[in-house]
Amino acid sequence: MKNLKRLIILTGPSGVGKGTVVKEILDKDKNICLSVSATTRNPRKGEKEGENYYFLSEENFKEMINKNLFLEWAKFAGNYYGTPLSFVKDKIEDGFIVLLEIEVEGAKQIKDKFPDSLSIFILPPSKGELERRIRNRGTEKEEAINRRLSRSTYEIASSDEFDFKVTNRDVDETAERIIKIIRS
Ligand code: 5GP
Repeated sequence: MKNLKRLIILTGPSGVGKGTVVKEILDKDKNICLSVSATTRNPRKGEKEGENYYFLSEENFKEMINKNLFLEWAKFAGNYYGTPLSFVKDKIEDGFIVLLEIEVEGAKQIKDKFPDSLSIFILPPSKGELERRIRNRGTEKEEAINRRLSRSTYEIASSDEFDFKVTNRDVDETAERIIKIIRS
């Protein structure tokens, strides 16, 4: 794949607000598009196939791994998540900047494979605020919340490995800062 400067990795702990920031970025800059991931987790209320995720069985997901159809993949909080290669390739060739909104292990894989890509780690203002955001979202049961929170300590400890760190205090401001980083 050529033009890997057009591949932007947005990572950070679950609940930090990556999804909301991404929506804002896509609204503000039509040259940027989001890669739709595949996952084995169940859809949340309101999530749509092909829009939020491609929801796959574990069997189908593993088949895609074996056929090398993922740019990266990782297991997170008991489920598989992965970036289908073909979409990213096509969009970059069409001239788009492609955003990957992924967890830290997958982000590290992309950085290792494609050092020319740009990586941005989104930090919460504090651990307490991260917990408040995950709980307020109301999408996970207690066990899943705890898995995500305990994982976040390891994830935040990896933040120095990425090219830029941005603290998400305000969605609009965070989106603006990321767009500036991408354009520069
Ligand atoms: P959620 O279940 O909350 O939608 O996502 C859980 C975590 O998986 C989030 O940190 C999200 O960014 C990450 N994620 C979503 N898609 C992918 C992907 O394709 N690859 C990897 N490695 N992580 C992903």
